[in-house]
Amino acid sequence: MAGIVVVFDFDKTIIDCDSDNWVVDQLGATELFELLLPSMPWNSLMDRMMKELHLQGKTIEEIADCLKRAPLDPHVITAIKSAYDLGCDLRVVSDANLFFIETVLKHHGLLEYFSEINTNPSYVDEEGRLRIFPYHDFTTSSHGCSLCPPNMCKSEIVERIQAQATAEGKKRFIYLGDGKGDYCPSLKLSEEDCVMPRKNYPLWQLICDNPQQLKAGVHEWSNGEELERTLLQLINMSNAADHNHAAQLFSVDCKFETIPMSPNEALPLALRVPH
Ligand SMILES: [Mg+2]
Ligand SMILES: [Zn+2]
Repeated sequence: MAGIVVVFDFDKTIIDCDSDNWVVDQLGATELFELLLPSMPWNSLMDRMMKELHLQGKTIEEIADCLKRAPLDPHVITAIKSAYDLGCDLRVVSDANLFFIETVLKHHGLLEYFSEINTNPSYVDEEGRLRIFPYHDFTTSSHGCSLCPPNMCKSEIVERIQAQATAEGKKRFIYLGDGKGDYCPSLKLSEEDCVMPRKNYPLWQLICDNPQQLKAGVHEWSNGEELERTLLQLINMSNAADHNHAAQLFSVDCKFETIPMSPNEALPLALRVPH
């Protein structure tokens, strides 16, 4: 068991686009989206856009088909499967929504590799309209973090996973992301952990602007191929370090077994020199 928790952001990390923009653009609603964006929180706007698409006669199947066409680098698929095979516990922490993420992961046969998906809840109502809700209900209270959008502070989620992982004896975190919303949880990682920001994207820029703010090791990537190579290297290095540590402990144990208390006690009884 690797004892590593790998946390994946979804948009522009697992898939190579933003799923919200992808659906809105592909289904021809970009103009309305841009018109409403300045006056609404993103999460509420997506619920509204699903209403508009429903009114235009777009079905949930059309939305699903559109999501299945979202670009996903084959190297990311290999990376996910290999990390799982190496014993890592994989989780999604995303500001997209459950329907979008499950549709994409299921389509690529990846859903069962993740032990948990933390995202904005969504469901298809009786009229076939997709409803999208905030992960954190900001109408009743604020999550209190000024870095993050009102509907989700990813740190809340990561801190819960950290507490759970510690209880299960998992030691290390690797966090992969690209966006501004991935900065806050990156600050919660320890010296033992790693953050993998996508190069030239907002998370990477925020880290570069203030590198001393972060305790975790930073390992950038630009595309699926680099994501796969970097992630698997980090996992293998961590596993090798654990193995060496275990081997060291084992050899110490062996010494305790074989090193005699005194030269006398090491000899068979019959050969002991009487005192
Ligand atoms: Mg993202
Ligand atoms: Zn936050």
